[in-house]
Amino acid sequence: MEMAISVDLSAPQLRPEAVLQLIDQHAAQRPAQNILFKVSEPAFRLHRGRLSNIVAVSPTEAARMNAELDVSGSPTDYLVSGAEWRCTQCRRYLNFFDIYESGKNHHDNEFFKIFLGGGDYHIQVAREASLLEVACTECGTVNELKAPVHYSGTVGGSAYTYL
Ligand SMILES: [Zn+2]
Repeated sequence: MEMAISVDLSAPQLRPEAVLQLIDQHAAQRPAQNILFKVSEPAFRLHRGRLSNIVAVSPTEAARMNAELDVSGSPTDYLVSGAEWRCTQCRRYLNFFDIYESGKNHHDNEFFKIFLGGGDYHIQVAREASLLEVACTECGTVNELKAPVHYSGTVGGSAYTYL
């Protein structure tokens, strides 16, 4: 259903700056299909360091996801960044926990374990028509996640970001 093109840019010989430039250009002019880039740890760290306006999950929310997925992430390992994103109804700052809870309707926990628990680093560029609907965990209102907001999960040595 959700077809993505996979591109492996994780070779250590590639310069992180050059890899991110390629990815950024695909995010600026979005592709027709999602593109999943596998990147090296240095490239991901560089990307992560450039994120701004980070909203982390609460300690309670992190603990719940950790227990359900059998991982050990801290609140800042689960983040939304790029722009303020609040519930249109109750004004809650929507965060990774809201995305996770809504994602359960589409994916089982195995998906999230792969998403967050693998040993690889990924950056996914969302396709042009991408629309993510996320229900607020406070009041249940469905909100649309719009670019350039993006979310990221990092647990242990693994990470996944959705530009
Ligand atoms: Zn709400």
